Amino acid sequence: MKKILIVGGGIGGMTAAACLLRAGFEVQVFEQASELGEVGAGIQLSANPMRVLDHLGLVDRLAALGVRPTAYQFKMFDTGEVLQEIPLGDGYVERHGVPYLSVHRADLLDSLIGAVRALDGAAVRLNAKVVDYREDGEGVSLQLADGSEVRGDVLIGADGIKSLVRAKILGETPVHYTGDQSWRILVPAERLAPEMRPDTVNICVGPGKHGVVYPIRPNGLINMVGCVEYETWDDESWTARRPWQEMKADFAGWHENIQAIIDHADKDQCYRWAMNNRSPVDNWRTARTTLLGDAAHPTLPYMAQGGGMAIEDGAVIARALQQEDDVGEALELYQRNRLERTARIVNESSANRNMFHLPSEAALREAFAQRDMNAERTAWLFSYDPITVELR
Ligand SMILES: Cc1cc2nc3c(=O)[nH]c(=O)nc-3n(C[C@H](O)[C@H](O)[C@H](O)COP(=O)(O)OP(=O)(O)OC[C@H]3O[C@@H](n4cnc5c(N)ncnc54)[C@H](O)[C@@H]3O)c2cc1C
Repeated sequence: MKKILIVGGGIGGMTAAACLLRAGFEVQVFEQASELGEVGAGIQLSANPMRVLDHLGLVDRLAALGVRPTAYQFKMFDTGEVLQEIPLGDGYVERHGVPYLSVHRADLLDSLIGAVRALDGAAVRLNAKVVDYREDGEGVSLQLADGSEVRGDVLIGADGIKSLVRAKILGETPVHYTGDQSWRILVPAERLAPEMRPDTVNICVGPGKHGVVYPIRPNGLINMVGCVEYETWDDESWTARRPWQEMKADFAGWHENIQAIIDHADKDQCYRWAMNNRSPVDNWRTARTTLLGDAAHPTLPYMAQGGGMAIEDGAVIARALQQEDDVGEALELYQRNRLERTARIVNESSANRNMFHLPSEAALREAFAQRDMNAERTAWLFSYDPITVELR
């Protein structure tokens, strides 16, 4: 039985571990943190990753922990006028077989960890920072920060946006500051008047900025991410706090629903980080090592698909390793089946930035009038099934 080593216990690494264990592989996940956890923020899960979570038996649990929004609405920043809508709710389940959920990231990660541990209680090693690795004809050796070494047949770098494994495979790849910084806040729903509590995913678009607002726990929490054009560059860190007053000023003149959410945020809990863009690459593997998730194809969050792609990758790598006995062939099969789709998502996500930030109401209205987001995303994004798609 092949032994698969995974660097990184985030959403992508844990999904891969669960899918590989289910497929009968021996798996070890190495996570540098001493505790498994996620930042306080939401994540949307469309049908494409939900099919993998269904395969892992997690849909009912996540549906109970999270929210099934009734629709995904693009709205004008100041009036709240709906520019376009993707219906979610029951109709989405009828079309795609699985619900569209918005959940707390910690609830998603906990669910994935539960699935991994139920299959192998010893699969995850915490406090296990990987500092280097080397590959030879027979296998891969990982070096950990405590000086120990672990040997396996395949190495998967699921170590996120600052991936050590990616740097070893690809060297330094160019990073461009998008010109956007992103705020994130979480607001308890009970602080808002009932009519101010959203039951939809709202993408509010406006000149030079956009705001994304959706509920992530039943009667519980509302997530807001606000992307604003800034000439200056701050740290690309998810945990850097900035004064609430700056966020309030950034969204001055926006709709009262946005004001209510910002007004009710904890004033010392407003996070802001710089958004960087990285172009897709056309290879992310060597003979025995590959990448997945943000390490392979970092993306801007303007389609809400970074985690979705990491989950899809986890299912497809497990299937490729099952389908091809030869490690090199399996890693090539996985990559061949993932490059084009992930590059498309990365490129469309960055294109969305320009559309969402158009300089006037008239320009925004015209841009949305020319698109049918529901038809477009149904045709290629939501319809993808990582569990059954033919791997060629
Ligand atoms: C504002 C925002 C909103 C988003 N919204 C959505 C959304 O709605 N839907 C969606 O699908 N996606 C969304 N995303 C994207 C999504 O969050 C990421 O794409 C996803 O978390 C990537 O998962 P990952 O497992 O590849 O990496 P990560 O989650 O970054 O996990 C990497 C793990 O590797 C560990 N690690 C790193 N280096 C080492 C090492 N040397 N040794 C051991 N461990 C190591 C880290 O500690 C970490 O646990 C959003 C992103 C942002 C920024």
